[in-house]
Amino acid sequence: MPAACRFCSAPLEHVFADLGMSPIANDFLTPEQANGMEPFYPLRALVCSKCFLVQLEDYSRAEALFADDYAYFSSYSTSWLQHSQRYVAEMTERLGLGADSKVVEIASNDGYLLQYFIERGVPVLGIEPAESVAQAAQLKGVPTVQRFFGVETAQDLAVGAAADLLLGNNVLAHVPDLNDFVGGMKVLLKDDGVITMEFPHLMRLISENQWDTIYHEHFSYLSFGTVWRVFAAHGLRLFDVEELPTHGGSLRIFGCHDEDASKPDTDRARVMLERERSYGMEGLELYVEYGARVRAEKRDILEFLIALKRDGKRIAGYGAPAKGNTLLNYCGLGTDFVDYTCDLNPHKQDHVLPGTHIPIVSPDRLREDKPDIVFILPWNLKDEIIEQLSYVREWGGQFVARSPDIQLFP
Ligand SMILES: [Zn+2]
Repeated sequence: MPAACRFCSAPLEHVFADLGMSPIANDFLTPEQANGMEPFYPLRALVCSKCFLVQLEDYSRAEALFADDYAYFSSYSTSWLQHSQRYVAEMTERLGLGADSKVVEIASNDGYLLQYFIERGVPVLGIEPAESVAQAAQLKGVPTVQRFFGVETAQDLAVGAAADLLLGNNVLAHVPDLNDFVGGMKVLLKDDGVITMEFPHLMRLISENQWDTIYHEHFSYLSFGTVWRVFAAHGLRLFDVEELPTHGGSLRIFGCHDEDASKPDTDRARVMLERERSYGMEGLELYVEYGARVRAEKRDILEFLIALKRDGKRIAGYGAPAKGNTLLNYCGLGTDFVDYTCDLNPHKQDHVLPGTHIPIVSPDRLREDKPDIVFILPWNLKDEIIEQLSYVREWGGQFVARSPDIQLFP
């Protein structure tokens, strides 16, 4: 029996991209754990022929995964902090936020963003299910409720914390129950409040072949048109949209209550719907043809790296992001290609990557080891990382990253 669409319940019968069997991207293993068995799950994205929501098919650990205490602390990325600071300045001015307002962030992580509203004297509340980051936020003085977000949480909080601004960055795609989540936003939003959400744009995933952004924690792959339909089904209206460079190309959507006449639809919202339509996002063909491009790029990546290894090059990785794990596992790249990978996050160091068992070490290792090639796995941060690691060039080292095809950055 085919699975049902997470949003509209239509049967899911079409494959968007099949990345085979893969471990959970954030299941970093200690060296001891690496000697045991390791669970792999299907990593296959399907597309709904009715609403065009691209989504992972169900796998056995899906519901438990969202609760896992993952090691990602937003505050470790400088460029992400700068992005958040700019957002806070823009929104404070655009919405006239002040001491009488309430800003609520869903999946507020370690308080990386809300801290900037606090600096401006705007009352905030964070909602964050993962214990480690929620505690880090509390320690920083960012009020945080450790809970999953959905209708029930929204009803419990709505009395004291109805939001003038309700935001969630890179959470919508990670939500297992999309309808419960968006339904909760309807409950928690003040009558004239504004919702903003950021998520990677599916149109960019397709046009720039960003298939490595498919991983188990990432349940949905979203277009503006599909999100527009999901919000509309819950009495919310998307009245504006911005394009952002983050995560390889994201959308920031602006939503309000359907009946809020003070927020007319902008031209930008209409233009985005039209652009997606003319790109083919409202028809099945674009989606079902995508898988062939993924398989072709796997062959290109292998050819490229095999050529480097035949030349005797030593390759080190940089970063241990989810997209890196998807790429390495799908392409079957282990320590036969990549000796180790470096990550600034001390919670990841001294572990090995899931599946490939590539060791994660401190970036200090690069200076001692002087590898020929540094393979940057978080390609969305490529420019920032090449600048930070410019010393690699002192010994003639070169960088490799997808952009969007895999290539050298001498
Ligand atoms: Zn659907």
